Amino acid sequence: MSRFTESDFLRYTLDNPTGISEITQRTLPDGSLLTVSASGVLTVEPAQPATALDLVLSCGVHGNETAPMELIRDMIHDLLDGTLRIGVRLLILIGNPVAANLSQRFEQVNMNRLFSASHTQFDCWEAQRAAELEQAISDFFSAGAEGSERCHYDLHTAIRGSEYEKFAVHPFTHGTPCNAKQLGFLAACGINALLFANKPSTTFSYSSSHQHGAHAFTLELGKVYPFGQNDLSRFALINQALRTLISEGRFSQGNWQQELICFNVCHELLKDADDFELDIATDVKNFASFNQGERVAHSSAGEYRAQSEGEAIVFPNANVPIGGRAALMLAAIAPEAINID
Ligand SMILES: [Zn+2]
Repeated sequence: MSRFTESDFLRYTLDNPTGISEITQRTLPDGSLLTVSASGVLTVEPAQPATALDLVLSCGVHGNETAPMELIRDMIHDLLDGTLRIGVRLLILIGNPVAANLSQRFEQVNMNRLFSASHTQFDCWEAQRAAELEQAISDFFSAGAEGSERCHYDLHTAIRGSEYEKFAVHPFTHGTPCNAKQLGFLAACGINALLFANKPSTTFSYSSSHQHGAHAFTLELGKVYPFGQNDLSRFALINQALRTLISEGRFSQGNWQQELICFNVCHELLKDADDFELDIATDVKNFASFNQGERVAHSSAGEYRAQSEGEAIVFPNANVPIGGRAALMLAAIAPEAINID
């Protein structure tokens, strides 16, 4: 059992979580070439490209976020039997199969803090894997045609509930305007909210955006459930939009000005002492909001109060090392205030 000969790429990846002994190449019904070059790393080169698009879909960067892995598994199944056609260059990445086999977010270190070469500061499975994934993306984009559009959607689900079930993080752009077609695509995917990062980060999507000039987003698509317990019908819109993109190279469009609530990150809450505490209920939802002046966190080293009315919190987690990010604070912005190309 070394080559990928069946149709369940997720099963194959979980059975070979740290590496494969042999590269697999298979021809799809339309003559396109599918290659599995490493554990969880699969590319398809289309025989009949519909458009010059290099598309990366990653999932399972956090090992317990199973629904996106199941969506991707089903897409690959359908590519193999020809029911899903391929019109773009495609790279699929199943991010952290070691953690997935443990039903854990990560084995030792949160991998979505290890990109843009920050993996060099660690010596663990996730650091090694982040380097391997970044290399796979580099190889994929550099093998694409000159001038091809580059996209990377990094698919996640969250442990915490959310006021907006599906939301996207736009990595920091260093002043580059955002792309209206991408925002329309997010709306068509059923994304309800978009937050704009205010500085560089070590996430996977920032790495693809900054290193490779890709349109890249972190997509949070709903709640975490174990393998086999996801209601994949809750992902129908994004599933359909991604399949249209794969087969036709076309970005389905929604009305983002009406369908996306947009936020700027206005403050990053850092854990500043061992006794740091967030002043929120443990089951508070992402995007829960505060009154101006309301205390959000405190420790022996200081406190943070909401700077403006309706400031919202996302990704709260006090269980991080000192100096680590305990939450992001957000301020809503009007669509007209967004810098669009
Ligand atoms: Zn995640």
